[in-house]
Formats: sequence, structure tokens, C-alpha cells
Amino acid sequence: MAARTGKEFLERLSQSRPTVHIQGETLTGGIQEHPAFRNVVQTYAELYDLQHSDEHKDVLTYASPTSGEPVGTSFLTPRTPDDLVKRRKSFKVWADHSNGMLGRTGDYMNSSLMALASAADWFAQADPAFGENIRRYYEKAREEDLLCTHTLIPPQVNRAVAGTQQAGGKLAARIVKEDDNGVVIRGARMLATIAPFADEMLVFPSTVLRGTPEDKPYSYAFAIPNDTPGLRYIAREPLDYDRPRHDHPLASRFEESDCVVVFDDVHVPFERCFALGDAELCNGFYSQTASVVHMTHQVVTRTTAKTEYILGLVTLLTEAIGIEQFQHVQEDIAEIITTLETLRAFLRAAEADAEINEYGVLTPAWAPLNAARNLYPKLYQRFPQILRKLGASGLMATPTELDITGPAAVDIEAYLQSATLTGAERVKLFRLVWDTCISAFSSRQALYEYYFFGDPVRMAGAYVKSYDREPYKAKVQGFLDQHSLDQHSLERS
Ligand SMILES: Cc1cc2nc3c(=O)[nH]c(=O)nc-3n(C[C@H](O)[C@H](O)[C@H](O)COP(=O)(O)OP(=O)(O)OC[C@H]3O[C@@H](n4cnc5c(N)ncnc54)[C@H](O)[C@@H]3O)c2cc1C
Repeated sequence: MAARTGKEFLERLSQSRPTVHIQGETLTGGIQEHPAFRNVVQTYAELYDLQHSDEHKDVLTYASPTSGEPVGTSFLTPRTPDDLVKRRKSFKVWADHSNGMLGRTGDYMNSSLMALASAADWFAQADPAFGENIRRYYEKAREEDLLCTHTLIPPQVNRAVAGTQQAGGKLAARIVKEDDNGVVIRGARMLATIAPFADEMLVFPSTVLRGTPEDKPYSYAFAIPNDTPGLRYIAREPLDYDRPRHDHPLASRFEESDCVVVFDDVHVPFERCFALGDAELCNGFYSQTASVVHMTHQVVTRTTAKTEYILGLVTLLTEAIGIEQFQHVQEDIAEIITTLETLRAFLRAAEADAEINEYGVLTPAWAPLNAARNLYPKLYQRFPQILRKLGASGLMATPTELDITGPAAVDIEAYLQSATLTGAERVKLFRLVWDTCISAFSSRQALYEYYFFGDPVRMAGAYVKSYDREPYKAKVQGFLDQHSLDQHSLERS
């Protein structure tokens, strides 16, 4: 099989039987018909269709090294600068389709799998079978164009103790048994976005394990089908209220469900395991394989698309109500422009300074991408704030589509017109601004940008620890020493 179409994506989903608890209901399939999921599932189908559109197929696909068929570009192992550019362009096409609102499009985890598989020798250190497993799994995901979700962190019960110590070690997902052909997992993981409609669940390491014997049952990496027996998802309340596109322009298309993941004695066959019982290997999972670098390349491309959208939106808003000329408004717009140009510069630097790593993969420079991923969680929080400040009461003068075509139509035309728009046009624009900065959907977006890559506070800690500041320390020390030398010479003269 090759890069999927939307129809093929939906066909596979219709065969899948994941167990999803949602609002008191238990689903065992039928995801694409359920009101909470059907709209976002359609949007994902559109992404797969783009892979076959005349406009985008050359960027979104490449020839599979095994079948020769077109497969998704996010699976491409970059060897040349052109490969990296092609990867970034493909990320951008998909990100633009949702204005960067879909965080978990397939290219996010595909990028991780590509890097992990290229570092198969690293997995093989523990056991050659693990190297073979990750390579084979990547090829399967590429050839079947699988959509993967992932889950990393233990449940948030008591962060004062390690995940391994929650409820006496009986809470976080762990290996409870090993049999002739695999392991059995029991417990929970905190979250997995898009879990109800993904094909596969990647259960990867995240929190730093200490490498003590107690960590052993918590040290693993594996992939299982989404409807594996014993695997259950508890979905949060959906933010897509199944309202018309006009009224909820973002939530009605881009609402990615977040679910708690429960493992009720889930059997994982050995051929689906990439690491088992090896805390040290688990701790190096992302950094030693460059997986985090390729994921961040995708993330920064997506957040660039999102920032472009915010800039376009704020411009339409300020023009509509004639506030462009005020200086504080310009200051806010300048802040968005600065963020956009900063992200673009980071991407460009990361690609320009890319180097071939030990596994022969052309890897973007980590320093600019790392800076971007530390900055954006905070920078994004300003965007809804700015939109709320500039939209003001206009964000409350937002009747629905039925009002625009109903008895209030004449009043809306008369009183809700703007400097550049008719009443109906203005309401349509302001509903979009509302869904970007006020709705429940927008709050979840802000939370997502803040946390999805990890806690910014702990990320900052890791950033400081890993950044080589010695040359700068030496530089300033040299300057201080120069003072003393100058002083001595003065005293002597
Ligand atoms: C919308 C959304 C989608 C997500 N999707 C996924 C997903 O698909 N897959 C997945 O695996 N994860 C997902 N996550 C989870 C994400 O990885 C975590 O939110 C992130 O790692 C932070 O962990 P936490 O939420 O458990 O926060 P906690 O660790 O519970 O932190 C809560 C607060 O306490 C502070 N704190 C806690 N412990 C410490 C400490 N040791 N040192 C300093 N401060 C501390 C934090 O700074 C923070 O302010 C998602 C999160 C969100 C919000």
C-alpha cells in the first residue's frame, strides 16, 4: 500500500474497534459517525486526500525505497539539504490546512519514527531484535501510512514522588508479566491526543528514570494497534459541539480529542517492543536518536503556519474596525510579526547548519530548534490576549448563522457592519476571532501550545543544563581579568 487517500483512512478507521469512554458512553468502534469525532476525522481525511492532489502530491510524497510507490514525505530519511527542505514543505502544506490548529497530524510521529528507525543500531545495543523491530515497524507505518498517537507521562496523582512510586507502584503503566511471546502492561498513562481515531498507539518513555532496579518495570517502548484488547481511552468532554461551521469555524473542524490511557493487562508481543527493562536506553530515547530534533522541525513549521494565521487574522480585525493607525495596536501587531520572523529564522538556521549524524541522517541544527521550542509556549499565550484586547466588545456581538439569515438579519446589517465589512461579513470574521481567543477550543489550544512538548519549566531546566556556557563565562572572566591587569599597570605607572 502507498500514501493513503481520505477514503482509505476512513475505511481503515471503520474496521477499527478502539474502546473509548466518552460522556458516559462506551464506544467500541463507529468513531467516524460519532458527533464528537466525525468532523475532525473528516479533516484528517482531507489531509490524506491532499497527498493525491495535483497541487501537493510532489511535495507530500516520495517514492518508497521498498515498493517504489508514493509514500508520505514525513517518512523520508533526509540525506541531502533538498530532502530537509522537502520535509519542511510537506509539514507546511498540512499545517496550513488547519492554520496550525491540528497538533497531531501524522507527520509529527512519522518524523519521530523515521529518526528512531535510522538509529536502529542504538536500539540493538540492548538486543539486536529491538533494532530489527524498530526498523520493521517504521517500514510498516510508512507503507501502510499509519496514523500514530503516543503517550508518555504517568498520571498526575502526586508529582511529589516519582511515577514509579504513585500509589505504591500500582498506578503508572508498568510491565507486570513476561511470557513466551511478549509482556503484559497494567496501569495508566496520562494523555494521548487523537487516540480515538489513530491507527496505532506508541507507548514511549518520557520522564527521566533513575536507572534503579525499581525503574525496570516502567522502562519500555512499544507500539500496539489502537484496538488491542485491554486498552481503553477515557476522552475529555468534546469541544466540538457539532454546531455549524459559521458559528464554530475552528472547533467544528480541528478538535483533537485528548484521552487518558488505561492498560488493563494489555499483551504486547515482543516484535512490537523497541526497549524493555533498560532505563538508560529509555532516557536516551529522544536525544540519542535525534528523534526530538526531527519532531521539533515539524513543530516549528506548524507553529510558523499558526503564527501566519494569527497575523492574517489580526490584520483583518484591525482593518475591519478601523484601529490600524493607533500606536499600541501597531505595537501588538509588531509583536506577532517579530514572533513570525523569529520562527522563520530559526527554521532557516536549523536547516542551514544541518549536519549528517552518526547514522547518516542529515539532522537539522538543534540549537535554533531548541530555542524555538522553549520560546513558543510562552509567545503563543500573547496571541489570544492580543486578539481579545483588540476585538473588545466586538467579540460579544457575535450572533449565529441562524440570526444572520433570520429575523435579526436587518438589524445585523444595520448595526453590526464595520468600516470594511457588511454586518454578515463582520459577524463571520468575529466568530473566527472568538474561536481563536475566547471559546473553549481556544483555551485548549493555548494549553496545548504551553504543555504538549513537556512542562516549559522543566524544559528550561534541561535547556540550561545542556547549554555550553563555558566560552561565555571565560569571555567575561577574561574581561574582568583585563580590569585587574589595567589597574596593576596604572598603579605601577
Ligand atoms: C492539550 C494537551 C495535549 C497533550 N497531549 C499529549 C499526548 O498526546 N501524549 C502525551 O504523552 N502527553 C500529552 N500531553 C501531556 C504533556 O506532555 C504534559 O502536559 C507535560 O509533559 C507536563 O506534564 P503534566 O501535565 O503532567 O504536568 P505536571 O507535571 O503535573 O505539572 C503541573 C505543574 O506542577 C509543576 N511541577 C510538577 N512537577 C514538577 C517538578 N518536578 N519540577 C518543577 N515543577 C514541577 C509544573 O511546572 C506545572 O506547573 C498533553 C498535554 C496537553 C495539555
